[in-house]
Amino acid sequence: MYPQLEIPDTLAAGPGPGNTDPRVLERFAAAGCADHMQADVVRGMKEAKFMLREVFGTKNVHTFAVCGTGWDGLDCAFSPILPGDTVVAFVNGTFSGLDDFNIRLKASTPQDLAADPLNPKPANVTTINVAHGESVTGDVVEVALAEHKPMWAFMAHWETGSGRINDIQGFNDACARHGVMGIVDAVSSLGISYFNIDDYPAVTTWASCPQKGILGLPLTYAPVSFNDKVIDLLKQRGCYTYVHHPILEARHWCITDGQDVETAAYHRTHSGYAVASFHEALRLLLLHGREQKSADYAFYEAGLRTAIEAMGCKVTSNMTSLVVFDLPDAFEGKEKELVQGCRADGFAIWNTLSEPAQIRIGILNQLTVPALNDIVGRFADAMNAMGIEVDKNQILADLNGHLGSR
Ligand SMILES: *Cc1c(COP(=O)(O)O)cnc(C)c1O
Repeated sequence: MYPQLEIPDTLAAGPGPGNTDPRVLERFAAAGCADHMQADVVRGMKEAKFMLREVFGTKNVHTFAVCGTGWDGLDCAFSPILPGDTVVAFVNGTFSGLDDFNIRLKASTPQDLAADPLNPKPANVTTINVAHGESVTGDVVEVALAEHKPMWAFMAHWETGSGRINDIQGFNDACARHGVMGIVDAVSSLGISYFNIDDYPAVTTWASCPQKGILGLPLTYAPVSFNDKVIDLLKQRGCYTYVHHPILEARHWCITDGQDVETAAYHRTHSGYAVASFHEALRLLLLHGREQKSADYAFYEAGLRTAIEAMGCKVTSNMTSLVVFDLPDAFEGKEKELVQGCRADGFAIWNTLSEPAQIRIGILNQLTVPALNDIVGRFADAMNAMGIEVDKNQILADLNGHLGSR
């Protein structure tokens, strides 16, 4: 027999998954064995649903969470797109690129799929590519929606591949002007940035994930929220999924006929362990305060960014949970090697997953002075080991000057 699997504790300093709070893991391990209809499991799901409405800043009744990872939430979000629907998707990095792929799968007719089963290109989906390292602006969205007048539009709120924040206000306003239903991938922004989705009423659908801003990695739930417009559309035309059907899946979260109800209707076997840990992750986020957490990320990211720039690197991102950067010119092309070395030492940073090769260092749930010192110190050591000379002591002194200024 294999020996028991031991997984070491690494310093999770990438774009995600983030460092899971020990209190979330403790709730996971402390939960008793109880089935998916046991009263406290169902109560935990109801409370999680109410907390999610606060986390999203919404009154949308159809706010709940989908078992699995970010892509499960997104699959549920895209499920109302039917074959032949017209869609404009904005892509500015790895993840919005994968979202665009999923949208093309959903919007394909059987003929589109047969023509290219693993990468269909239905004519009814228009992909607008924005260069890596740049944001999707309201102007870009306006021009494309005015030209194509689609039924749906899609954008990532924060594109984690390139670390760029896209213009959610501009996206919403363009969708409103052209009567388009907006879908947003908020996987990297929910729980990090302070925003209320009800301020963007033309965005009918939002999806996020467990492992980034929510910090519930023990494979729990991907938050989603649908407004009444998309739910009404679903009531009229349905969609082709059981497991990710927004109306059917919501029943287990005690949402029936557009209302909160007392009793859950079986949809699938939810895990009491997962419910307990997800519930704790949401509690911790709301106890910290969404606005405070957002300010904390901005403050710590500024310290990390300055330290990385002081090492001669060029930062091209503007997200507050992540810095994405190039090495100094003389060391261009060494990014992957540097990242691999760090990862082998348990310092889990990342390179970009699509071109161009850049380095990504994140601070999900690392909002403390020791954690930031650890991250910057380890990266300075790795730079020096590669022959890129940096003054670690000075950089850490400057970092602590910033961190001590609050
Ligand atoms: C991480 C990420 C995803 C995918 O999430 P998984 O949890 O890996 O399924 C999708 N979109 C964005 C913007 C992301 O950052």
